[in-house]
Amino acid sequence: MGEESSLQLSTPVEALPGVTSRQAQGLRALGISNLGWLLAHLPLRHERIEAEATIDRLEPESTACARGEVTATRVVRAGRMPRVEAVLHDGTARLDLVWFNQMFVRNAVMPGVRLRVQGKVKQRGPGLQMVNPKYEVLAGEEEPPEHEARMRPVYPATESFKSWAIERVMRTAVPLGLPLIEDHLPEAYRVERGLPSLREAYRMQHTPVDEDEVKASRRRLAYDEFLLLQLGVHLKRAHLRERLRAPKLKWNKGIDAHIRERFPFALTPSQEEVVKEIAKDLSREVPANRLIQGDVGSGKTVVALYAMLMAVASGAQASLMAPTEILAEQHFLSISRMLEGSRVRVELLTGATPPSPEAKAALLERLAAGEIDLLIGTHALLTDRVRFKDLAVAIIDEQHRFGVVQRAGLREKASDEASTPHVLVMTATPIPRTMAITLFGDLDVSSIKGLPPGRQPVTTRVVASTGRATVYEEVSRRLAKGQQAYVVAPAIDGGSQEELPLGGGDAAGEKATVKTIRDVRTVAKELETTYLPGAKVAVLHGQLARATREEVMERFRRREIDVLVATTVIEVGVDVPNATVMVVEQADRFGLAQLHQLRGRVGRGSEASACYLIADPTTEVGHERLAVMEEVSDGFALSEKDLELRGPGEMFGMRQSGLPPFKVADLMKDRQLLLLARRDAAAWVKASPRLGLPEEAMLKRRMLKAYGEHLGLGDVG
Ligand code: ADP
Ligand code: MG
Repeated sequence: MGEESSLQLSTPVEALPGVTSRQAQGLRALGISNLGWLLAHLPLRHERIEAEATIDRLEPESTACARGEVTATRVVRAGRMPRVEAVLHDGTARLDLVWFNQMFVRNAVMPGVRLRVQGKVKQRGPGLQMVNPKYEVLAGEEEPPEHEARMRPVYPATESFKSWAIERVMRTAVPLGLPLIEDHLPEAYRVERGLPSLREAYRMQHTPVDEDEVKASRRRLAYDEFLLLQLGVHLKRAHLRERLRAPKLKWNKGIDAHIRERFPFALTPSQEEVVKEIAKDLSREVPANRLIQGDVGSGKTVVALYAMLMAVASGAQASLMAPTEILAEQHFLSISRMLEGSRVRVELLTGATPPSPEAKAALLERLAAGEIDLLIGTHALLTDRVRFKDLAVAIIDEQHRFGVVQRAGLREKASDEASTPHVLVMTATPIPRTMAITLFGDLDVSSIKGLPPGRQPVTTRVVASTGRATVYEEVSRRLAKGQQAYVVAPAIDGGSQEELPLGGGDAAGEKATVKTIRDVRTVAKELETTYLPGAKVAVLHGQLARATREEVMERFRRREIDVLVATTVIEVGVDVPNATVMVVEQADRFGLAQLHQLRGRVGRGSEASACYLIADPTTEVGHERLAVMEEVSDGFALSEKDLELRGPGEMFGMRQSGLPPFKVADLMKDRQLLLLARRDAAAWVKASPRLGLPEEAMLKRRMLKAYGEHLGLGDVG
């Protein structure tokens, strides 16, 4: 038997036939220790490269590839676009190179450097030229071999161990590793879906012959990522349904009428529908796990209150958890107002409330004794000391800031082991369907569509900072009519931040960046002295004491304040119909979802409202994102657009979710595949609720390895 037959995926890279010790060292530096990890080191992308030719054989108007030595360079700054020029010689002829508007090229392309270039060949006078060619510096004693036309994988690499060097190792190692790869999908199953085998998929990632192979392998690997996550999610859900019981809440005409008496308005048809879905959920003993999405101002709070009061009607408790203290306070105030004169006992629990440890302890005691019906708070609700007597409904507002892990925490708040509360999650930022499936695949989804009657659309304008004065003139006109305004700035107080001791780092640099950020205090001062003299201006931010914040909000509500200058603390929950204009300073520093939230603070009364986004974006995408705000007023459409422009990595949610990022799959590009994987996973778990068949063992092991910990599947495995 030869040594190859004893190869395993666990064989260390040093022991791989054909891999030199220098190569092994390079791999180790990339964290690749064995054959399995080597195969899993997937290319970032693939590039089509042309066959290399000597310069004398290059054809004008063809896309070609050549290598040679740079003999001269020149930087030309004249004209509209500065350029870097270079001359390349390979012993057969000369090729002129020019890069427009890429001055950084001069740092790499210098006389004496050897280059490989690829680009379109142009005839220029008697000679040949390439404009803006791609180039690769061929440094070091070892030059990459000449190549034929093909797809070239571009690997994550290091300075000393470049992509082409990794590619060389792959050429020897991949054929050794492929036979060791076992597929976790049955052949008939994958063939039915037009997916290649895992072995083929890896072969085509590392050594594709053409674009089609790259596509086919991506499709298989992306499908696998989606499928494993969806299987995990569905398995968890099956487990929940099978093993855990939630209180069956009473629901009848009398209770329904009693709850509605508390609401100062009739529900919209969409709210009605969602209330019905929720009530149905809560009157079963299967624990509800439902996402309630609705645009800003769509009226999720009363829907939540309906669910909470259903718990109270059955003699049980309910909780509402909000992401910030201000929002928790807002909920507490508006819910208390609606429950005024009823016997329902509502309390607020946040880091700051109740203020004294004694009062806090007393509150917790009453909670455990069942003397509090509704508890509203921040994630302080999740701390160990919080014990309910009989928690039947747990509501989480603004899901995207919490994530899967916190939801599990709330479940544990039930008093006895076999019982768990119904969980409702409200998101004020509608999330794209693909995100919802990925992050909250284990949830049922209800959507509140449209806004309550009487809402005016909000006109949005993006204005450069040079137009600031005009914006505030418009604000001033509105104030003259008795209306009120919000102004939002990205920081609280630049001045005081500068005085803070800056632990480590480049203190001077940090100061410089801090200074350029517009802060609440500076903006407020500018308004009082320059733009809106005579207006009553107040500031609101998270560093103010709770009592002060409440007082400021109350005064704004009573119209004793004209302009509220704030950080994003007013993003959620604040509801003052007389405020008709929102100005956001340095709007490019905020996410689209956030801007949409902010904009939702106006347009709540009968007056037409406006939102001004003051910004000087420096990038193309920056411009485009703000332009989208002008055109799109629907939160769902906006979040789709945000996902498209920024990619899921940057989106709210993905990072906070605690889930590992996908390596291959792309939530935008691979939507169809995601839907397929979701359907497949649901069907699979339905047929085999524990994935317990021998032929499913490998699939289950891989799923648990990838997502078990994140999804809390410990007890499922
Ligand atoms: P969000 O979904 O952003 O949490 P809220 O629950 O705060 O929205 O509701 C926004 C505003 O609309 C509140 O002032 C609320 O009282 C009001 N509202 C909600 N539902 C209705 C309705 N059916 N009719 C009239 N006003 C409503
Ligand atoms: Mg809300």
